Amino acid sequence: MMRIIPLSSPDITNRERKAVLDVLKTRTLSLGPKLREFEERFAEYAGRRYAVGVNSGTSALHLTIRALGIGQGDEVITSPFSFIASANCILYENATPVFVDVEEGTLNIDARKIEEKITKKTKAIVVPDMFSHPIDWDVVLRIARKHNLKVIEDSAEALGSSYKRKRCGGFGDASVFAFYANKQMTTGEGGVLVTDDKNIADLAKSMSNQGRRVENGKWLEHVRLGYNYRISEMQCAMGIVQLQRIQEIVRKRKRVARLYTKKLQGIPGLELPVVESYADISWFVYVVRLSKSFSRKQRDTIIAAMARKGIQCSAYFQSIHLQPFYRVLFGYKKGDFPIAESASDRTIALPFFNNLKEQDIDTVVQSLKKFV
Ligand SMILES: *Cc1c(COP(=O)(O)O)cnc(C)c1O
Repeated sequence: MMRIIPLSSPDITNRERKAVLDVLKTRTLSLGPKLREFEERFAEYAGRRYAVGVNSGTSALHLTIRALGIGQGDEVITSPFSFIASANCILYENATPVFVDVEEGTLNIDARKIEEKITKKTKAIVVPDMFSHPIDWDVVLRIARKHNLKVIEDSAEALGSSYKRKRCGGFGDASVFAFYANKQMTTGEGGVLVTDDKNIADLAKSMSNQGRRVENGKWLEHVRLGYNYRISEMQCAMGIVQLQRIQEIVRKRKRVARLYTKKLQGIPGLELPVVESYADISWFVYVVRLSKSFSRKQRDTIIAAMARKGIQCSAYFQSIHLQPFYRVLFGYKKGDFPIAESASDRTIALPFFNNLKEQDIDTVVQSLKKFV
């Protein structure tokens, strides 16, 4: 049987297993002490006053949009090159996503192009830190302040990264993290919203729990429209351990990234990830790009050839504006955001996880060399 080198793999130890089993010995499987502890620890880690644990990063984004009162008729600036949730959360509330093309190096929103997209209707900006790389926050926050925009920081890929020595998740009016199994830390599914604004935290908390009151809430009294976006005690127990291990996790990811960067140096036709001097990266993924002489089809052929060798790679990400339903809703077409499109034609995410062996890294590098 062919040995598989997977694209990603969660790093779960006996500590996580024991923590989950301990919860299963109790009668409280939701809304209990593990949620409170996870929120307290997470807020402290992120350097924020409040944390609200929920069932996914997408839920945390949705609650942020709602808590900020963004809705019909409002415009929200965001990136066309991201995981789709960072734009969808704007659509959930019938506001309009306004895309600003990314910049070539980091694939983050090009801050120089933000102001030309601001109108009287612009209420906020959703900023994803793409592939763990922080945007130039000083610039973004200056623009937001000048135009009185709310900032929603999508740090789903940036747990453990920092900008000028300050942790990602510390810049937005609210910031979100996500804990799907391929993220730096995982709870299986899960997410969290962090903020220093009590009003945002309370609204998000209430809406995540069917609109119940946050303090002394009655189970069958609902004071606003809410959702069931709750995260279970088992997930929180797992999250507490993963968070305690975050430094170890980031250290392991930096090791893998360092090895890739060393071994992939100087391969013609291959561009390696850019890291700006202001950034410290926790490496959600390791994404290389083929040079511009390659077509999308050639890229896909390389990914398929790697797969036949048991090496799982992926094309990260596809431009949001060209997703079928965005084309239908907004009439977007090829050429609207050329840098995002060019990147999505040329990216290859390589197998990347904490315990990836050097020998497997060598296998990936050898195959990539051969096929490129
Ligand atoms: C993973 C991710 C999310 C959402 O995460 P889920 O927990 O899967 O809902 C949001 N934004 C970005 C940029 C992500 O990478």
